[in-house]
Amino acid sequence: MQKLFQGVEGVVDRSEELKQNASGVAAVRRARSTDKLKEECGVVAIHGHPDAARMAYLGLYALQHRGQESAGIATADGQKLANIKGMGLVSEIFTDDVMDKLPGPMAIGHTRYSTTGDSALLNAQPIRVESTKGLIAIAHNGNLVNLGNLRAAMERDGVYFQTTSDSEMIVQLIAHSNAGTLVDAIADSLKTVEGAFSIVMMTRDRIFAARDPRGFRPLSMGRIKNPDGPDTIVFASETCAFDLLRAEYERDVLPGELVMVTEDGVTSRQYASGVAQSSCIFEHVYFARPDSRIYGRWVQESRDAMGRRLARESGVPADVIVPVPDSGVTAAIGYAEESGVPFRFGLIRNHYVGRTFIQPEQRVRDFGVKLKLNPVRNLLEGKRVVLIDDSIIRGTTSRKIVRMVRGAGAKEVHLRISCPPTVSPCFYGVDTPSKRDLIAANHSIEGIRQYIEADSLAYLSLGGLLKCCATKNPSGEDAGYCTACYTGVYPTDWVDVREILAAQ
Ligand code: SF4
Repeated sequence: MQKLFQGVEGVVDRSEELKQNASGVAAVRRARSTDKLKEECGVVAIHGHPDAARMAYLGLYALQHRGQESAGIATADGQKLANIKGMGLVSEIFTDDVMDKLPGPMAIGHTRYSTTGDSALLNAQPIRVESTKGLIAIAHNGNLVNLGNLRAAMERDGVYFQTTSDSEMIVQLIAHSNAGTLVDAIADSLKTVEGAFSIVMMTRDRIFAARDPRGFRPLSMGRIKNPDGPDTIVFASETCAFDLLRAEYERDVLPGELVMVTEDGVTSRQYASGVAQSSCIFEHVYFARPDSRIYGRWVQESRDAMGRRLARESGVPADVIVPVPDSGVTAAIGYAEESGVPFRFGLIRNHYVGRTFIQPEQRVRDFGVKLKLNPVRNLLEGKRVVLIDDSIIRGTTSRKIVRMVRGAGAKEVHLRISCPPTVSPCFYGVDTPSKRDLIAANHSIEGIRQYIEADSLAYLSLGGLLKCCATKNPSGEDAGYCTACYTGVYPTDWVDVREILAAQ
């Protein structure tokens, strides 16, 4: 493996390896051709730990499901700010010799599946920018929606952007702010941008964490108790990262909140308020790990409730409940318990394909699903099967799975989806096909059923989904959710109207 390090700002160059084994960018392109929405990004921050880089590595390792395209870790030791990033998985990039180049008690980390900007090392994060307020590194989960106007205005003012990523916008706004202090500059910048952002930032001696005023993406704060000195403060996109770090969950960073951690402790300010919360409900449906607690409730509980409710809303006589692994498993358990029909792993997933499988030509493309999933014939033969999945995007994968189950001898195949039909693209950090490629935007449920060749098809109702994810914010009010991909009603003003117009 060839590696290049350039001063304290380093990249891990795996170009030779990429050519040889077709992993990395090429694999990401292949992953995009699958019929699933893609996770956005995961962020982590560590303050006050002697080996902050390794803690950030562990945090990113737990958040790998949120992005497999690139990863990066920046560290600070009070003087210097080191930053290394590369294409690929966290464990591929951060080998021991790479970790040794990341000293200091503070770190931020990022794992990325790009939703804007080119899919390249250039846009890997953390992004580091030199400014009048010193060096700043940022790692961002989400997507800004007023990017075009803002970026053009800043470029007219002479700002030079290093990347095509929307995340650099935030740090450039901070760098060019007239505010007297760094924390004021950050607060001003966060007020200027519109859209989804859960961010962690680092200077030579401080860590910041913030969420956008609507709280689109999750971000939690935890603590590792240290009996001999100050506690280690950690932030992560999902609480599953805290388990690996042995950190205790303390609280969520609130929508519109900016938290600062220094040697003197944790301080916070509400930089924006009065905006209705619209957290991404699809985190509960699919993105987040079931062992995470986000927006104040366990993801596992939400998915179990979705399955139970689906059984009540659209139950059908059946012999066996089969999840489409892995994301359909928890809802399928709930469905099976509610309906009294036995749960069985009637489809087995091969965990070792996906990223590294070479899929060069159209004629072998149909193997895609068969390589990932295989039916357990003796569980399906002669049975009335209810398949549980979390979404239908284009419909092509669902059709292959239905055919596969029928081909294994199932007498009937019924498909149940644990959320409403996906009818609109996401602009808040989730990689969604355009409206013309979303099957539910262009076909009735009966039309989709015919296309996927199922005996019956039903989705969870929107009202049902909202009940399954109901939670309170710290003030005791009902937390609001974004459901735009199910309704086409967007919580922010600015979106690309061409994408929202009905497909022809
Ligand atoms: S549009 Fe859908 S995926 Fe995007 S933030 Fe809203 S609920 Fe989440």
